[in-house]
Amino acid sequence: MKNSPQNPIPKLPDYHFHTSLCKHAKGELRDFLNSAGIKGIPEICCTDHAPNPDGFDSENRMDLKQYPLYRAAFEELKDSDFPKILFGIEADYYNGCEIFLKQWLTEEPFDFVLGSVHSIEGWGFDNPAERHLWDSADISTTWKNYFSVITKLVDTGLFDAIGHLDLPKKFGHRPPDKALKEMTAPLLDRMAISGIGIEINTSGLRKPVKEIYPSPLILRMACEREIPICFGSDSHNPKEMGFDFESALAMAREVSYTHYFRIKNRKKKMVLLPETD
Ligand code: ZN
Ligand code: FE
Ligand code: FE
Ligand code: ZN
Repeated sequence: MKNSPQNPIPKLPDYHFHTSLCKHAKGELRDFLNSAGIKGIPEICCTDHAPNPDGFDSENRMDLKQYPLYRAAFEELKDSDFPKILFGIEADYYNGCEIFLKQWLTEEPFDFVLGSVHSIEGWGFDNPAERHLWDSADISTTWKNYFSVITKLVDTGLFDAIGHLDLPKKFGHRPPDKALKEMTAPLLDRMAISGIGIEINTSGLRKPVKEIYPSPLILRMACEREIPICFGSDSHNPKEMGFDFESALAMAREVSYTHYFRIKNRKKKMVLLPETD
């Protein structure tokens, strides 16, 4: 990791990480809190993959019976002064997800609900095991389909921010800039009206694409529309907390953002970006 006491992580909250409850991450909530504390990260929000009682992608998430463990782990740590800790969830949008999520997300005491799309019509397009299906996919059509699912996500009004907005680029498949701009603009217009935020997610730097989600091109268009941003490492291991937040901050500034949001009880508050030195 680049960060060291000489080169500390920018003082930004990390609003995206997963614990062992999701079956593909290492570490307990406490381990993530400790790691963030050592790195000087002021605030964190756990966003483990939400349970889906209909069985959707059950191998990558806690089941509803385990949810009380997640909540209890948070309750035990919630009075932490440094870092502060918030209670969140990363919920997948898919056709029919509202049947459970609509009620559950309002009943549970979440500070932050991150909305993500990891599949299109049953294809886990970001799953290494299903990567070969890209070989026979039309790239522009796939991206259009993905954005139409994201549009439905936005229209539900159930989510506070979108996780890794341009996830289909994970293995390097993407349309040319001009086509991408054309398909992204109407979505971003809609997002701006809805008030939903965008997460700057550094996990893409650890993936074949080696790029933050979303790309500077999309983030610049988001900034023009004043769509609020937050920051997430998408850590699946405590040592990844705050992963390359210096690049995320530099990119936010580069495309002219001056503020980011913090959230509590699902209410966003705009805060000045920290100085870069
Ligand atoms: Zn995960
Ligand atoms: Fe995700
Ligand atoms: Fe995640
Ligand atoms: Zn994620």
